Amino acid sequence: MSTLFEKIIAREIPADIVYEDEFCLAFRDISPQAPVHVLLIPKKPIPRVGEATEADQALLGHLLLKVGVLAETLGLKDTDKGFRIVVNHGRDGGETVPHMHIHLLGGRPLTWPPG
Ligand code: 5GP
Repeated sequence: MSTLFEKIIAREIPADIVYEDEFCLAFRDISPQAPVHVLLIPKKPIPRVGEATEADQALLGHLLLKVGVLAETLGLKDTDKGFRIVVNHGRDGGETVPHMHIHLLGGRPLTWPPG
């Protein structure tokens, strides 16, 4: 059975898509935790980051490079603004959707440590 994010990739569930290419898709989180909250996902259904393999090396690099592109597009890249990326793995990490995703958060000061 396909996951929620696979359904978004397949356009079976609507989403506010902000970026797409051959390897990845980015869309706004349905429950934003900051003025800008985008999820960047690989189209390949890697369940969670810790289960990526050597075969995913280029894909993981691609995703991180696209973070910069997205941050620029969304107006967050200047260092007097900025952003945070978060990748949750498993229960204690706060993962709720078993398809790897990078949260890109910005548009307000973000505190540290996270909750
Ligand atoms: P996780 O908790 O697994 O790191 O992140 C999953 C994220 O997916 C959450 O921030 C949640 O708000 C978001 N989410 C859950 N369902 C949907 C949905 O149907 N559409 C969108 N755009 N985001 C969703």
